[in-house]
Amino acid sequence: MAAMFGDPPMSLPAPSARSRVRRLPDRGRYDRDTIAAILDEGLVAHVAAAGAGEAVVVPMAYGREGDRLYLHGSPASRTLRALAQGAPACATVTLLDGLVLARSAFHSSMNYRSVVVLGRAERLEGDAKLAGLRAVTEHLAPGRWDELRPPTAKELGATAVVAMDLREAAAKVRTGPPHDEPRDLAHPVWAGVVPLRGAVGAPQADSAVPPGTAPSPSVTGWSRPGWERLG
Ligand SMILES: Cc1cc2nc3c(=O)[nH]c(=O)nc-3n(C[C@H](O)[C@H](O)[C@H](O)COP(=O)(O)OP(=O)(O)OC[C@H]3O[C@@H](n4cnc5c(N)ncnc54)[C@H](O)[C@@H]3O)c2cc1C
Repeated sequence: MAAMFGDPPMSLPAPSARSRVRRLPDRGRYDRDTIAAILDEGLVAHVAAAGAGEAVVVPMAYGREGDRLYLHGSPASRTLRALAQGAPACATVTLLDGLVLARSAFHSSMNYRSVVVLGRAERLEGDAKLAGLRAVTEHLAPGRWDELRPPTAKELGATAVVAMDLREAAAKVRTGPPHDEPRDLAHPVWAGVVPLRGAVGAPQADSAVPPGTAPSPSVTGWSRPGWERLG
């Protein structure tokens, strides 16, 4: 996560016309801390890039450092190719906090925190590419980069890395109970919120790990805010 690098200042401008939340605008958040916290807690970005001739949204790992979101993948990936060519793009990260079970289907919802990043990505090379790869790896498991053998030139050649600016990032946040119609409150069914959170299981070593080898700090220390530890 970004904190591993120290966190360079991230100053986001006011939302643009297209990044301002219009539907339920009171749920829109544009401050740096909210956007950074959601990105740092999430694990998967759903990414779309225009130009492939059809609509496709693909899930991807990502990393954030300062005001940049880093994505990586095969240079043959359609989405990575379009991103690297600077196509209009969108990356969305969603955290689910609860089921909002109302007394009607209409008012049933979810509690969530999400970020939508709009813009065009920039293809990274050289040191910037390595820094982007590090950001993605560190986001997955903070501290892991320094535990790994360094990437080879062949591996770097087989990986494309792009960065999206967070200038046009917006967050949307729903909290609290259902908003039922007053006339529905007497409907005889339970209503309220079922909180959701993640859980981390006990690490499972692969078969090549010598018996007695302790998991490294990036493994034992892995967590996300509010997640439960199993076993
Ligand atoms: C877990 C979850 C479940 C949802 N379920 C539904 C559903 O079933 N049906 C439904 O219609 N909507 C749902 N939403 C809300 C949905 O994401 C959109 O906000 C909503 O559909 C309005 O879309 P729009 O393009 O009209 O928004 P607009 O308000 O017109 O969007 C303008 C700009 O606001 C920003 N924005 C919009 N939505 C979000 C967001 N969620 N997070 C961050 N920035 C945002 C973007 O920059 C966007 O370009 C859900 C959201 C989450 C996180």
